[in-house]
Amino acid sequence: MNDVIVVGAGPAGSTAARILAQSGFEVTVFDREFFPRVKPCGGGLTSRALSLLPPGYSDYIHAQPTEWIFEGRGTESSRSVHTERPYSHIVHRASFDQWLASQAERAGAHIHTGEAVVAIQEHTDASGYQVRTSHGTYQARYLIGADGGRGISARLLGLSRPKNGAALEAEIAVAPEIYEQWKNSVTISIAHYPWGYAWVIPRRPVLNVGVGSFRAARLPLRALLQEWIRQKLGAQATPIEILAHPLPYRHHFATLTKPRALLVGDAAGLMDTLSAEGIYSALLSATLSAEAIRDAAENDSPLHLYDQKLKQTLWPELSSAAKIGWLFYPFPGFWSKLFLENPSIIEQYLKVAQGTAPYSALLQSGRNVFLRHAHLRSRIDRADLSD
Ligand SMILES: Cc1cc2nc3c(=O)[nH]c(=O)nc-3n(C[C@H](O)[C@H](O)[C@H](O)COP(=O)(O)OP(=O)(O)OC[C@H]3O[C@@H](n4cnc5c(N)ncnc54)[C@H](O)[C@@H]3O)c2cc1C
Repeated sequence: MNDVIVVGAGPAGSTAARILAQSGFEVTVFDREFFPRVKPCGGGLTSRALSLLPPGYSDYIHAQPTEWIFEGRGTESSRSVHTERPYSHIVHRASFDQWLASQAERAGAHIHTGEAVVAIQEHTDASGYQVRTSHGTYQARYLIGADGGRGISARLLGLSRPKNGAALEAEIAVAPEIYEQWKNSVTISIAHYPWGYAWVIPRRPVLNVGVGSFRAARLPLRALLQEWIRQKLGAQATPIEILAHPLPYRHHFATLTKPRALLVGDAAGLMDTLSAEGIYSALLSATLSAEAIRDAAENDSPLHLYDQKLKQTLWPELSSAAKIGWLFYPFPGFWSKLFLENPSIIEQYLKVAQGTAPYSALLQSGRNVFLRHAHLRSRIDRADLSD
């Protein structure tokens, strides 16, 4: 019998497996894909995400842009911010995820790629789980659902399933001289349509271009992507391939544990709905899940301590991001104007993205600017009245 079965070998699954294997647990990981596999993703890692990786990640970084271009409504409304240190470290997910899985394997985990989990059943005496895959049946004392936005663990375990936004991305091959023009900047559009965003990210030797939305059902994403590509790279730019993927998130915390199972990363819906960053949450939740399983096995403590740890660490940030998003996304024209006209908010946002400031600081700085703006407006209105 395995100590732990992990469903999915993305950043969350491989990280949990590596930490548990290093602690002496017998761990088996299943992924339905053969590696290296494609995962639609901008591949942008923040510094806080880097801080949770094992040594050696720098070999997988393909770009480190130091310029952020935020675009509001209309091409004339944009602001470029240069930073001394890169705020985003760009990886190709295929090779990065393969490396993370190899780190888990090196630590002693058994990695089965090309083997999909199809059924999960709790033992009748609640001592663990039976897992049926495309190749066989396995037993484990603990189970980690790390199977991402298209996974089945949450449903099979009877845990609350995340909501889903959606993103479409394309890789565009460009001439080396065109790549040179883009290689140092990340371009983010924050106001082209409600509840969504668009990006251009350099990922040597191609450009990664995409659109995403947390209310995707209301938007013609394919047409928006084509328009975005045409706007940024001209009518000649042709995507190598267009890929779609869910953006799993939740607005309310719900338990992510069973007595001997838990969910991590996208399978748990832990994406930041403002920045659309998910890799940091995947790495952090995986780290906390491994600690919780270690504690549970050593001290017979309940696994739901994982919920508590998430609530103390990651959840306050995700919840603040959701609140800001809830204010921002329905009125992108208004807020992006305020955002772009106020460097202090942009600075705060970049600090949050880097992990050196909490979202509450961004909320505070947005609130101050808004109040200043409102105060000015009421003074102008009063002046108008007295004329
Ligand atoms: C277009 C797009 C752009 C993004 N850009 C960024 C970005 O720039 N920065 C960032 O931080 N985040 C970004 N994200 C989010 C990020 O990609 C995810 O949050 C991250 O991949 C979550 O990692 P994970 O390990 O939880 O899940 P995944 O990386 O999705 O891994 C899950 C794994 O489970 C496997 N699996 C699924 N079902 C089964 C099964 N039944 N049996 C066995 N295996 C299974 C899958 O094959 C997969 O390998 C983006 C997302 C999208 C869609």
